[in-house]
Amino acid sequence: MSALEAARSLFTGLTGREPDGVWSAPGRVNLIGEHTDYNEGFVLPFAIPHRTFAAAALRDDDRVRVASTFAEEPVEVDLAQLDALFPTPVGSAPSVPEWSAYALGVAWALRAAAPGATARGVDIAIASDVPVGAGLSSSAAIEGAVASALDELWSTRLDPVALAQIGRRAENEAVGAPTGIMDQMSSMLGRADAATFIDCRTLATESVPTGFTAEGLEVLVIDTQVKHSHSTGGYRERREACERGAALLGIRSLRDATEADLPRAAALMDDVTFRRVRHVVTENQRVLDTVRALAERGPRAIGDLLVASHASMRDDFEISVAELDLAVETALAQGAVGARMTGGGFGGAAIALVARDDVERMSDAVTRAFADAGYAAPHVFTVHPSEGPRRDA
Ligand code: ADP
Ligand code: MG
Repeated sequence: MSALEAARSLFTGLTGREPDGVWSAPGRVNLIGEHTDYNEGFVLPFAIPHRTFAAAALRDDDRVRVASTFAEEPVEVDLAQLDALFPTPVGSAPSVPEWSAYALGVAWALRAAAPGATARGVDIAIASDVPVGAGLSSSAAIEGAVASALDELWSTRLDPVALAQIGRRAENEAVGAPTGIMDQMSSMLGRADAATFIDCRTLATESVPTGFTAEGLEVLVIDTQVKHSHSTGGYRERREACERGAALLGIRSLRDATEADLPRAAALMDDVTFRRVRHVVTENQRVLDTVRALAERGPRAIGDLLVASHASMRDDFEISVAELDLAVETALAQGAVGARMTGGGFGGAAIALVARDDVERMSDAVTRAFADAGYAAPHVFTVHPSEGPRRDA
């Protein structure tokens, strides 16, 4: 059963009626620009074909009920209760089951952003083919699908950037995960065959044609199956190191530093903080270089930038793991144009830019290398830059 059908059948099983519609939003892969978003820097993600579907319908009362194939039990609250549930106090877990805070948080943030809109109760059933916790942003996909459904059902009619901000608010303040805006923006603004350049300070965006299809290139995703969690430890520590580095440099955020500032940074801070800063500063430059290379020289010219990005995450930002390094090294040894880990790190997925004819050989080689190393089998598949949210039914 497709995820679209799964959402619809979950809905009818739950409510005994047909949904008013089914809306979906994609996951994303970040081509380059990692841990730059919360430093007000640059990112270059693209939406992928994998999507999360929300089958939804208005109710005659003011109850909000969410169900997911991912969860055992639906969660039901009063609309009026949302303002008491959220924001979740900093450092605590949400007072509803965590998965439901993504959807209920979107309902809460949308109501706050459009207070005049007539909000009625709603039933929402969710199913997805975005792998969860793999660095492909299943969280932005669920937020985008629910935001798109509610935006239409509640007639709030916000633009895609505003809906992305609502998804981020849900994730930050309802779930309590201190993530940046990249995931929601790349999901909401996805376009076929293009990546989305985002200036995370101004939220200015630009659609950047990748040329992958014309050049016969695919993006191989190697999901290591090593689970990461944004809400814990490492991610928070990296953010704090970046804030500390910016404060020591006397700037608002690391966006305001360039490679010319690195010698001064080295003198001002401890080695670990300096290396965190150096990753962000050089990564911002690599994003700009990638956009230029795609426009001027085509996708085969970005390989070295992808490889340099991985080295920086492995050595300076220290967010890679052995499985991700092996995936990248194997892909490169097999002739990939470039490869790097993608997403927040500490597990999740790597990507490799690969000639279409090499996909099968490369997948086999990676799978074999993981078996030889005694690692769990990776999940390997291809993606291409795809459309943002849509109404499917
Ligand atoms: P990622 O976004 O990389 O997949 P996150 O930790 O940011 O990982 O988000 C994953 C979380 O989002 C899940 O643990 C779950 O709480 C929620 N989630 C994602 N997809 C769904 C879904 N289809 N149904 C319910 N919850 C989901
Ligand atoms: Mg996420």
